[in-house]
Amino acid sequence: MLKPFIEALDDRVLVCDGAMGTMLYAKGVFINKSFDALNIAQPDLVAEVHQEYVRAGADIIETNTFGANRIKLGTFGLADKLHAINEQGARIARHAADGRAYVAGAIGPLGIRIEPWGKTGVDEAREYFREQAQALLDGGVDLFVLETFRDLNEIGAAIDAVRGISDLPIIAQMTTEEDGNTLDGTPPERFAPELEKRGATIVGVNCAVGPAPMLDTIERIAAVTPLKLSAQPNAGKPRDVEGRNIYLCSPEYMASYARRFILHNVRVVGGCCGTTPDHIRQIKTAVRGLAPAVVRGSSPAEAPQESRGAKAGGGSRAAVTPTITAAPLARDQSRGWRMRWHTATSSSPSSCCRRGATAPTR
Ligand SMILES: [Zn+2]
Repeated sequence: MLKPFIEALDDRVLVCDGAMGTMLYAKGVFINKSFDALNIAQPDLVAEVHQEYVRAGADIIETNTFGANRIKLGTFGLADKLHAINEQGARIARHAADGRAYVAGAIGPLGIRIEPWGKTGVDEAREYFREQAQALLDGGVDLFVLETFRDLNEIGAAIDAVRGISDLPIIAQMTTEEDGNTLDGTPPERFAPELEKRGATIVGVNCAVGPAPMLDTIERIAAVTPLKLSAQPNAGKPRDVEGRNIYLCSPEYMASYARRFILHNVRVVGGCCGTTPDHIRQIKTAVRGLAPAVVRGSSPAEAPQESRGAKAGGGSRAAVTPTITAAPLARDQSRGWRMRWHTATSSSPSSCCRRGATAPTR
C-alpha cells in the first residue's frame, strides 16, 4: 500500500517513468496514428510499456493521455471518445502500477494557439482541459502532470481547470529552449513563481533538451521558488542518423545528472523523449536512498553511503554537494555506448513528445 503521494515526496526522491510515445513507436505504432487512442484500441500494448517502467523502478507512471484533449483527438476524428480514452488510460495505468507506483494523469498542450497569441480564448482552453482532467479523475489518478507546455497562459489555464475540480497534487512542467527560456522568451524567473501562484504543487521542466542544459534551468528555478521541483529531460537532442532521429544519451549519463538535479531541490526525476526503461532503471539506482533531508544535510546520521563523509551538521547544500555529486562526466562520454544504443532504441520525430505523436502546431 503506497503512502499518499505528498507524504512520499517528503520521504524520498520519486522516480517518474520515461517516454511513452517513443516506446510505442518502437513497438511498431506509426506516428500518424493517435497514440492516445491505443488506450481503447490496444490497451495491452500500453499496459506493456507501463509495466516495463514499473519493473525498472518507476515510482510514478504517467497515463497515455498526453494528447487526449478535444482539439488533438478531433484531428483524428476521435473527439467523441475523449472521456473513454482518458478514463481508460487511467485504468490501464492503475492496473499496471499494481500498487507499486503512483498514477499521474498526463495532460499536454492543446496544439492550438491561446490568446493573446491566437484566437482560442483562455476560458475555452480551460474548458478543454477541464473535460480531460475530469475524465482522468473518473479513471482514478493519484495526481496530475501538466507537461511540455511552452506557453505560460496555456498551462495557467490547465492548472486552473484541474484546481477547479480537484485538490490532487499537480506537477506543472514547462518546456524550454537550451537557454532556459520558453519559446516566446519567458524566463524561469517569471514562469516558476507564476506556476506556484496558480496552484502547482511541484514546478518543473521536461522535454526538448538533454540533462545538461536542463540542469542550468533547474538551478534558476530553484533560486526563485521554494516548491519542490521536477526534471524530465530528453535523452539528449535527437540526431539524424541515416535518416532516423536517434536519441543518444546513455542511461548512465542521464543517471549522473539525476543526482545533480536533486542538489537543486528536484524531488521528481524521470525522462522524456527517447528515454527507456533502461534510463529509468539507472536513474532509480542513482537516487535510491537519497532522502531529501539527507540531501539537504540536515540529517547526517541517516546519510547514505556516499555522503557519510559530509560535514556533519553543516546543513548547507555546499557542505554535502561534493560528496554526493556524481563524478563529472564529459558531455560525450557516452560515445562508446552509442553504437549499441543506435541499434537498441527507436527513432522518433523530433517534434513528438513522450505522450503523443502529434507535433505542436505552433
Ligand atoms: Zn518529450
